[in-house]
Amino acid sequence: MIVQKTCQGTKASILLIYTGGTIGMVQDPTDQTLKPFDFKQILDSVPELSKFAYRIDSYSFDPIIDSSDIEPSLWQELAELIASRYDSYDGFVVLHGTDTMAFSASALSFMLGDLTKPVIFTGSQLPIGVPRTDGRENLISSVEIAAAKDGNGHAIVPEVCICFDNMLMRGNRSTKANSDNFRAFRSENCPLLAEAGINIRYNTSIIRYPESWDAPLRLYTKLDTRVSILKIHPGITPQVVRNILLGEQTRAVIIETYGSGNAPSKGWFLDIVKEAAASGKILLNVTQCIGGSVNMDIYSTGKALKSAGVLNGYDCTTESALAKLFWLMGETEDNGKVKDLLEENLRGEITK
Ligand code: ASP
Repeated sequence: MIVQKTCQGTKASILLIYTGGTIGMVQDPTDQTLKPFDFKQILDSVPELSKFAYRIDSYSFDPIIDSSDIEPSLWQELAELIASRYDSYDGFVVLHGTDTMAFSASALSFMLGDLTKPVIFTGSQLPIGVPRTDGRENLISSVEIAAAKDGNGHAIVPEVCICFDNMLMRGNRSTKANSDNFRAFRSENCPLLAEAGINIRYNTSIIRYPESWDAPLRLYTKLDTRVSILKIHPGITPQVVRNILLGEQTRAVIIETYGSGNAPSKGWFLDIVKEAAASGKILLNVTQCIGGSVNMDIYSTGKALKSAGVLNGYDCTTESALAKLFWLMGETEDNGKVKDLLEENLRGEITK
């Protein structure tokens, strides 16, 4: 555990990247409507940032978007931007809408390999321009964490994370769990990487560190998006299951199952699953529960899925499973290789 007091005067350099979302809105005093914020004036609007004495540069996507409109192409742009500025900054803070932040943070965690610098996603539930905003705190903590270094000059958190409501979570373990609370995100299956109170307490036993601090960043931008999600529910029909599992354009399906990985034991359901697996599709079992893990050996319904060829997603979030599949499938056309890697813990996204 490292406890760091607010480090003023350290000349760290941070690139603040604005993609859109609520955090970047300000209330127009004339008509009270929310308007996008001009990020060139960030230090004027959040003057606390200048107390850090960091160099903070900003970069705004154009157009900025509500994160409901995020597409994998934005992840590619974002990863390329970070890679192209990698040597010029100590850390990166990405301002992003909360709705799909967990997807984007998961995607970047796979697309940026051998990361030695922090990439901290943050946003807010209330625009930065309104008095009770949570955006100011989230932004200030994110900047401080992105700049934090240990005694050897290495980043304390060289990971893709989400910083929200004083909690620092691994990006590919986070999920948006509340649409109106300031505590919008949860990381049920992975302890917090840091907590911000009077000091910031870093949980260094959980934070992942690179094998070598000198290895160059590995950038992966090929993504194959032929993934569907089948959420199991009572009353699900053969037509729906068939359309999703056997869809011609689908290379992989995430099956969101009940509890520890259970699905209906009906013959028609298992027949379709077997047909999809036999046709070479990649099928991954992820639980609908916000916490806990898939274990297909506990119940006969889980066992049936396993013997039909469904892979174990362990305690992966759906957001992370989707991003991992996009990335692995973008890297190879060989479904066998994807299947082998899918059950491995590659970026701290699962606990086996
Ligand atoms: N709809 C907004 C977005 O995700 C909500 C937010 O920023 O919190 O972009």
